[in-house]
Amino acid sequence: MTQYVYRFGGGVSDGGRGDRNLLGGKGSNLAEMASIGLPVPPGFTISTAMCARYYDEGEAFPDSLRQEVAQGLAHIEQVTGKRFGDPADPLLVSVRSGARVSMPGMMDTVLNLGLNDETVEGLATTSGDPRFAWDSYRRFIQMYADVVLDLDHGSFEEALEVAKEDRGFTLDTELSADDLRELVAEYKGLVDQQWGRPFPQGVHDQLWGAVGAVFGSWQSDRAKVYRRLNDIPADWGTAVNIQAMVFGNMGETSATGVAFTRDPAKGDRAYYGEFLINAQGEDVVAGIRTPQYLTAKARADAGAKPASMEEAMPEVYGELAAVFDTLERHYRDMQDIEFTVERGTLWMLQTRSGKRTAKAALKIAVDMAEEGLITRDEAVLRVDAQALDQLLHPTLDPKAHRDVLTKGLPASPGAASGAAVFDADTAEKRSAAGEAVILVRTETSPEDIHGMHAARGILTARGGMTSHAAVVARGMGRPCVSGAGALSIDLKARIMRVGGREVAEGDLLTIDGASGEVMLGSVATVEPELSGDFGALMEWADAARRMKVRCNAETPADCRTARGFGAEGIGLCRTEHMFFDAARITAVRQMILASDEAGRRTALAKLLPEQRADFAEIFEVMAGLPCTIRLLDPPLHEFLPTEEADFADVAEAAGVAVEVLKRRAAELHEFNPMLGHRGCRLGVTYPEIYEMQARAIFEAALDVAEKSGDAPIPEVMIPLVATARELDLMKAVVDRVAEQVFTERGRRLEYLVGTMIELPRAALRAGDIAHGAEFFSFGTNDLTQTTLGVSRDDAARFLGEYVEQGIYARDPFVSLDVEGVGELVSIAAERGRATRPDLKLGICGEHGGDPASIDFCEGVRLDYVSASPYRVPIARLAAAQAALRR
Ligand code: ADP
Ligand code: MG
Ligand code: MG
Repeated sequence: MTQYVYRFGGGVSDGGRGDRNLLGGKGSNLAEMASIGLPVPPGFTISTAMCARYYDEGEAFPDSLRQEVAQGLAHIEQVTGKRFGDPADPLLVSVRSGARVSMPGMMDTVLNLGLNDETVEGLATTSGDPRFAWDSYRRFIQMYADVVLDLDHGSFEEALEVAKEDRGFTLDTELSADDLRELVAEYKGLVDQQWGRPFPQGVHDQLWGAVGAVFGSWQSDRAKVYRRLNDIPADWGTAVNIQAMVFGNMGETSATGVAFTRDPAKGDRAYYGEFLINAQGEDVVAGIRTPQYLTAKARADAGAKPASMEEAMPEVYGELAAVFDTLERHYRDMQDIEFTVERGTLWMLQTRSGKRTAKAALKIAVDMAEEGLITRDEAVLRVDAQALDQLLHPTLDPKAHRDVLTKGLPASPGAASGAAVFDADTAEKRSAAGEAVILVRTETSPEDIHGMHAARGILTARGGMTSHAAVVARGMGRPCVSGAGALSIDLKARIMRVGGREVAEGDLLTIDGASGEVMLGSVATVEPELSGDFGALMEWADAARRMKVRCNAETPADCRTARGFGAEGIGLCRTEHMFFDAARITAVRQMILASDEAGRRTALAKLLPEQRADFAEIFEVMAGLPCTIRLLDPPLHEFLPTEEADFADVAEAAGVAVEVLKRRAAELHEFNPMLGHRGCRLGVTYPEIYEMQARAIFEAALDVAEKSGDAPIPEVMIPLVATARELDLMKAVVDRVAEQVFTERGRRLEYLVGTMIELPRAALRAGDIAHGAEFFSFGTNDLTQTTLGVSRDDAARFLGEYVEQGIYARDPFVSLDVEGVGELVSIAAERGRATRPDLKLGICGEHGGDPASIDFCEGVRLDYVSASPYRVPIARLAAAQAALRR
């Protein structure tokens, strides 16, 4: 019989500790903390395997589970000395969800379960604190009604607000035992009214209801959205944790809090967190009262008055700090912790590897390697390559004018500008229409996830550094300012008010997640400064990686940026971009519209010096590094004039009538230009175009070699080859021109000729093609289009749905379709190398900057990947991680 229940705490263990696949993240870490002697309230975990079985069996529980749960409860009763449902001295439990990976706010938790009209009296007597007992009962009904019974939680909150207002209170801690008793009666009335049945009094009914709700929440809409955004498979399931309650709401010597062992925003080695005296669980993150700082230093730095935990509860704080250190040493990573103090006794309720900003991830990884806690290779593996993106982008220009509206908490760094929007749906809609938006909310909840994802930045009026908005924004890499208390949102008027000023929906706002400032209008930005930590990690990554990293660049400015980021060459220089320049386009059009070779040659002669100058500049910047230059690729019609004035310009330059040109332009029309007269087909039909380009390349290379001594290494790339014969013809053209130029100049130069592999036929016939090619560069954009038969420009309409329905795991234009396109790449690599063992292999499609695709490239042992300039560091790190994983 499969075991589903695993006990922990009180010196008992059923194993499974650290096995998050079995027990979920929360459960496995609770078991692990208990096993290393930390104070954990006793409990048990129902494994994730039960979640799948629950759904398989039509949302029902097998009898065996009921027996196992009874044994689990007996364990808790034995350790605590209390009995579940005992009217005199009741055991209360929490029912907590916990999937393999933490899904913040996605799954619901019920606290204080086991209270009913009888047991609440027992709790009042044994605790000697009736206020506490009734506070716990009203919390329980409120949560149970929301999470398990799915009733309107707004009406419960309203009742609480009214209860406070009626009595002239602002804080819920001001409510007395009798006030709370009345509130409980009201709550029960609400349940009766909305559910049509009285609030369940049987403690076992309560328990099974809650367990079912946890499993049920795995299939809730918001959990599904989160899974989709984070690539979490639906079949993982969640575990359920049932654990003895400990109480932070037992008066002034009790408290609850959340903490990080290091600063999750900046990465500094300082305890970081918030706590609330006389409060329970959710209160800290819910922003009901403003939480207090954990350390005296953080309080002083913030200029806050209420005592920090270090000051208010020095002894327990000392114990907590010791636990932080134990946990960091044990897990060898920064931890995110939940704790509760019950009448001066510390209890640990959760630990997990803490979410952090990219900046903090970098600093923590480098610091931990330097502290000797982890190795340099581990440090390299610790930083999410994709998240590095956040560090490589601009921040607010410190000199730019700022019209500061207000200041909140610097919850997630980075700067963002966009139109203010006040709800998640609007954020999603306007962003889908191409507008940059800032989502402004009083506070966010899991229902807002899609809007937070669509927004450039997030601004909230309430909530601290560990509020939902802050945690989720940091995880998503979105700038966030939270707790900007001065602002209020009028959802009806679609207006936000702050300090006597009004901002209408759609007005531009800028937020600075590093300072907490909120500004009107959009503020200028500056390039990032890459700190010492970044340099150190990149150095370690470079030591660990095998593949080279090149850039896709065609302007000297891009080349310079890319080299600054560590590019080791150019993997793709698209020559056609140079043709669009206003000064040249007329000559380009004259060339295209010429009716014969002589006409084309006249126009090409005008372009030659221009292209030569372009290449010379690029070769200079690249200073002797290899540069792959692709000969003309796009369909010619992309360059055609459309305006009358443009036709007139070309007519004058070519000395031909406008009517003749128009007729010629019409002839060039293609039904499906992406599969038309483009790529090497241009070179086959009009070899003079490739001749001109080859000449420009070799002349420029010799110019630079003579001037600087850093001889460029041109790699001339023939696009869209399907057959070996195409490549052979084009290679002959390039080689002939090279010989001519070398003879004219009396100097030779090393160069390569190769091809893009971007058609399935080319991949399959790579063995033949490699006879003529000295390198292959996988053009995975076109290879994806031609393999899948999907046009990248028309895919938006259905691709989202395809990913949603799991037809492709991710957008195949973003992350390589390893199964299909990847198989063609590995076939081509294998067959190419069989012909020519020293064949140089690289990738130059968009995928060259995507960590998952880079991992694949390491698997087929490409020599290099090539990415856009800003993604070069991401590619360096991802290439190192790919090498280390093998
Ligand atoms: P989440 O995953 O949303 O953080 P948790 O299961 O961790 O949900 O619980 C929500 C809150 O309730 C947390 O603050 C947690 O510390 C608190 N909590 C959970 N179980 C207990 C318990 N047995 N005693 C006291 N507080 C608890
Ligand atoms: Mg938690
Ligand atoms: Mg292509």
